[in-house]
Amino acid sequence: MRVLIVEDELRLAQTLRRGLELEGFVVVTAATGDEGLRMAVSDTFDVLVLDIMLPGLSGYEIVRRVRAQQIWTPILMLTAKDGEYDQADAFDLGADDYLTKPFSFVVLIARLRALVRRGAPARPVTLTVGELELDPARRTLTRGGIDIALTPREFGLLEFFMRHPGTVLTKAEILRNVWDANYDGDDNVVEVYVGYLRRKIDAPFGTHSIDTIRGAGYRLTADHALR
Ligand code: CA
Repeated sequence: MRVLIVEDELRLAQTLRRGLELEGFVVVTAATGDEGLRMAVSDTFDVLVLDIMLPGLSGYEIVRRVRAQQIWTPILMLTAKDGEYDQADAFDLGADDYLTKPFSFVVLIARLRALVRRGAPARPVTLTVGELELDPARRTLTRGGIDIALTPREFGLLEFFMRHPGTVLTKAEILRNVWDANYDGDDNVVEVYVGYLRRKIDAPFGTHSIDTIRGAGYRLTADHALR
């Protein structure tokens, strides 16, 4: 098991290294935030241990940037009791566990093993309907492997359809979920955007995915060929 420890207190880092190596971990250490981030994104680890107050980037900033790069390695934060941050911040940013300094080494080992056993948290799921594949986290859409570029609003609308395939969605439901809850403009905007979507996800491929159900709304179905 490979663990990266980002900790600027060298004695603590050395103690952790020796202890973890005795427990069979392969340990890599970094003493600054920048070095830690570089290692975390360029190398592969089973778990990351991050101190918060570091020279350069803080531990929080490392978590944020690591997760922004779609790296889902479990992260344990080391927090100080008197720190200006707390564990709620750590979880908000995507850490999986935390320990308050000073901590017991036995507890640290147990927590690390638990995190590694649990594995990387499942990354956000890709939505698939027919040949359409939408990745909400990466904001990408493909049809049969071909990239399709959408505006943010079009993307939001298609994501809503793809979360409810085969279901008739009324204009009111669509407005409430895709536009602002307080949107009080013309609901014809839905029709306009469904038109934009059809032009991008269907017309170039000769497919037909969004049915208009007269007087009711719209329904996304797995592709039928256009007749
Ligand atoms: Ca520190």
